[in-house]
Amino acid sequence: MTQVVEQVECIYQEVVRRNPGEHEFHQAVKEVLESLVPVLTRHPHYAEHRIIERICEPERQVIFRVPWQDDTGRVQINRGFRVQFNSALGPYKGGLRFHPSVYLGIVKFLGFEQIFKNAVTGMPIGGGKGGSDFDPKGRSDGEIMRFCQSFMTELHRHLGEYTDVPAGDIGVGAREIGFLFGQYKRLTNRYESAVLTGKGPSWGGALVRREATGYGVAFFIDEMLRARGQSFEGKTCVVSGSGNVAVYAVEKIHELGGKVVACSDSDGFVHHPAGIELETLKRLKEVERRRIRDYVEIHPDAVYRHGGRIWDVPCDVAVPCATQNELDGDAARRLVSNGCLAVGEGANMPTTPEGIKVFQEAGIAYGPGKAANAGGVSTSALEMQQNASRDAWTFEYTERKLREIMKEIHRACHETAEEYGRPGDYVLGANIVGFTRVAEPMVAFGLI
Ligand code: NDP
Repeated sequence: MTQVVEQVECIYQEVVRRNPGEHEFHQAVKEVLESLVPVLTRHPHYAEHRIIERICEPERQVIFRVPWQDDTGRVQINRGFRVQFNSALGPYKGGLRFHPSVYLGIVKFLGFEQIFKNAVTGMPIGGGKGGSDFDPKGRSDGEIMRFCQSFMTELHRHLGEYTDVPAGDIGVGAREIGFLFGQYKRLTNRYESAVLTGKGPSWGGALVRREATGYGVAFFIDEMLRARGQSFEGKTCVVSGSGNVAVYAVEKIHELGGKVVACSDSDGFVHHPAGIELETLKRLKEVERRRIRDYVEIHPDAVYRHGGRIWDVPCDVAVPCATQNELDGDAARRLVSNGCLAVGEGANMPTTPEGIKVFQEAGIAYGPGKAANAGGVSTSALEMQQNASRDAWTFEYTERKLREIMKEIHRACHETAEEYGRPGDYVLGANIVGFTRVAEPMVAFGLI
């Protein structure tokens, strides 16, 4: 065991050395490697094949210039990325993020996480991620379209339904996927539906894809609560963010009997003790593209706190759905001292390592993003299935499938954690399930 711990520490140090300055990537690698010590001890052949070292090195990374013209006629230059991390289980699959904070370290952390998440779903998809430092906030539809067209003009040569299939993430929703798909179709002269997921339902998109990540995280938390003999019924919940994942997490939590009392954006949060009004939230964010502060104009009994920390609002269930490292050790301690009993991550890596430690030591149910937010990519895989068979499933049928998938992800993580002597440790469970599913075909394929 000690020898394996040392081996893993050496691999981690080498990852840090080879990828300087990519802090989020280092953080994601460290969390996974720490969980793998027991599996490497039990299966020494993974070390002989140097599976971990190979998994930590992307199969391919593409960085490109994205020139475009804004509405004033000025030329703008952004940087585009696609990291094709691992294709042991299927074509690279993972979203595109448009946000000014995007750089290689963010894309690599997201791509690395995606490998294990996609494996945990049990579906035939590899891991990848991409994006740009383009900031869509305040841009007109015309500017968004010109940016997306320029981005795809380079990216299209690296994609394909059997090669690499992107989807949305922060800053990339149905509008952007539409512009990206249109340009791909035009450049390739092929109606290759399964090259992108998150499409509109009238042109090959799966029903429930828009809702899938938010619904999925609610289903996963529901499973964690059930495993402890509890349910959402009567629980007070806090959901950070107010984007795609947050909105549909709120919707499903309300349907399952919980009450979401707060949500946020990067400026501040709204606290509405009577319960967040979903229709208002959807109208503000999806139709009018306004800020969360405007919610209190419509609901004067709600309070807006500019720059405040949403995790100070007392709750039974916390659902971070905004961005990485949004919930630190201090915030975790506050949640625990306020009686929080479950945390399910809609966002990718929203809790810092110190925050995770606080939750685990307090013994609360903690569902990491790799498992809890896998509903989005699972439904993307369902979209690919429908595109391949030229079929279109109903909302009810697709949602039923999503629910079954989340249940199965929970079962696999829960049982694996028990098998390795760490009952209730979903971090360990998800990392081991994901890793072994990717490692097996990597061994079978030989040294590639
Ligand atoms: P959206 O762009 O739709 O929404 C993002 C939300 O998070 C917005 O409310 C945004 O506020 C807020 N936010 C973004 N950056 C920050 C920040 N630095 N600080 C505080 N708030 C911030 O993105 P999604 O809802 O699609 O994604 C949210 C999270 O879920 C991400 O971590 C993403 O990787 C993850 N995820 C998404 C999936 C999907 O299917 N879309 C699938 C799996 C995971 P503002 O408007 O002020 O920027």
